[in-house]
Amino acid sequence: MKLSFSGLRALVTGAGKGIGRDTVKALHASGAKVVAVTRTNADLVSLARECPGIESICVDLGDWEATEQALGGVGPVDLLVNNAAVVLTQPFLDITKESFDRSFNVNLRSVLQVSQIVVRGMINRGVPGSIVNVSSMVAHVTFPELTTYTLSPTGSTKGAMTMLTKAMAMELGPHKIRVNSVNPTVVLTDMGKKVSADPELARKLKERHPLRKFAEVEDVVNSILFLLSDSSASTSGSGILVDAGYLAS
Ligand code: NDP
Repeated sequence: MKLSFSGLRALVTGAGKGIGRDTVKALHASGAKVVAVTRTNADLVSLARECPGIESICVDLGDWEATEQALGGVGPVDLLVNNAAVVLTQPFLDITKESFDRSFNVNLRSVLQVSQIVVRGMINRGVPGSIVNVSSMVAHVTFPELTTYTLSPTGSTKGAMTMLTKAMAMELGPHKIRVNSVNPTVVLTDMGKKVSADPELARKLKERHPLRKFAEVEDVVNSILFLLSDSSASTSGSGILVDAGYLAS
């Protein structure tokens, strides 16, 4: 399916690496004007070289005031991808206040804050919009062999994101703003390599997937683009599992 986002402006968080970076490239290639938001300026510089004309905003989305300042004047946005997140792996009894707060601030609170900024603009302009929250299959299930991942605050942030997505869809629907999530299994980005660093564990984990594989970045990006587009015009408050069948097992 060839999607066109011509004439639309999209904002992608966590745009420097992995899924966010490839989402920016795909949106740019499909005609959208893209605002790339991330924390490391060097990533924005290299991305702007690959995608001439994109706008770049460098900010730590875990910092509420800095985010307000950086994005407060962002201007009209039609499509939003809340993708930035951190994985701070700790067994349950070792989780600290700092890692809990950092995880929730970056992975969940920033979704609320960035969405508020963008949605205010959509409602003021009276235009429809589509928001995709990049969640995870750990919103729904634990990895038995990966207990440090799921017991780390990350799984909790993604579980909470499910309800935030539904609540946003409920409240924003009358404004013709759709809100959905994508929920991938492991994707071998920097983050995915970190959580599946042990080769034996990665092998066992792959075997538990009916398709005997992890997801590719491209698979996740395709689902994000579908949910952003009018091809999913009647879908809101929902999520697409990109999990190689894991939840069926
Ligand atoms: P990566 O770690 O490869 O990339 C994450 C991007 O987000 C980086 O550019 C990073 O910037 C940016 N980012 C992180 N924290 C902040 C912050 N505080 N402010 C601004 N930008 C920030 O991750 P992925 O591409 O793998 O993950 C993307 C999304 O997919 C996440 O929501 C993740 O939870 C989800 N996901 C990933 C899976 C996987 O296995 N990879 C599985 C399931 C879900 P910097 O590097 O400069 O910190």
